[in-house]
Amino acid sequence: MIVVVNANAPEKEIERLKESLLKKGLEINYSRGVDHIIMGLIGDTRSVEISNIESNDIVEKVLRVQEPYKKANRLFHPESSVFNILGSLIGGKNFAVMAGPCSVESEEQIISVAKSVKAAGATFLRGGAFKPRSSPYSFQGMGLDGLKLLKIAKAETGLPIVSEIMSTEMLDEFVKDVDVIQVGTRNMQNFVLLRELGKTNKPILLKRGMSATIEEWLMSAEYIMKEGNEQVILCERGIRTFETFTRNTLDISAVPAVQRKSHLPIIVDPSHSAGMYWMVEPLAKASIAAGADGVMIEVHNSPETALCDGSQSLKPEKFAELMIKLKKYAEIEGKVIG
Ligand code: PEP
Ligand code: MN
Repeated sequence: MIVVVNANAPEKEIERLKESLLKKGLEINYSRGVDHIIMGLIGDTRSVEISNIESNDIVEKVLRVQEPYKKANRLFHPESSVFNILGSLIGGKNFAVMAGPCSVESEEQIISVAKSVKAAGATFLRGGAFKPRSSPYSFQGMGLDGLKLLKIAKAETGLPIVSEIMSTEMLDEFVKDVDVIQVGTRNMQNFVLLRELGKTNKPILLKRGMSATIEEWLMSAEYIMKEGNEQVILCERGIRTFETFTRNTLDISAVPAVQRKSHLPIIVDPSHSAGMYWMVEPLAKASIAAGADGVMIEVHNSPETALCDGSQSLKPEKFAELMIKLKKYAEIEGKVIG
């Protein structure tokens, strides 16, 4: 349920209303805009009489929220969320570009890719250190050594780093060393992990489960937010359909759908959607056109010899050419890459 209050109401009256709602055992998610204050009520609202609250002069209206997600719901927070992560912005008029290799493979590799994506205008460096591979015989990532190398690349370029966590065991290391903690498609419904991430103060990049509905995805965001961490960035990375031509089917309609239902920023990962490097450019352009708040793109200095996802990785030169085009596309949408 949400209670819309006139923002010019006397503070005393607002406090009195808040107290009466808290007394009913409800949690209040408070959001102040220019004209309105939105009090989002979380908990058992069955005993709340809408007409009683509406009889209060300072209350403009009361609405029942149908969706099961609350803190992620745009009704609870009408303005789009914007996060500032070490100076790189996501949301609003900003278009974020996260780029880097699927996996960190060596110091030379990550430093050279980091420098080239930075020069091309990327705003975050991505790199996997713990890799969720379908086969236990495939390269599993460099682990903690990979995180160390990402830190060196960050020191060299100033780019905030994004890396995937696979289990709660590594939580302390990630909180210490990583700027945006990625939850991969396979862990979108690892509720134990989500809850623990909700207790941290790190921005979380929550990828869509490969078979998850938009509502299930937003419920996973809610798991994180319920614990107090409201910095959740959603990432559409393609879903499983009957089509086998592409690695996944990019659900571009998820972008406007999520933006209608939620205030959280949403970015697109064209690399894992397509599975093929030559399809990354059209899908990245489509993402901007659909209104996405950013893209995540895999870039590798030597895709032919990459230990993971070489076939969908762009060479640094191709990425730089793509960035020139994306800047123009962003401009058409009234956004800046920054
Ligand atoms: C990745 O970003 O490298 C990755 C494994 O992504 P996803 O979870 O979307 O498959
Ligand atoms: Mn990958």
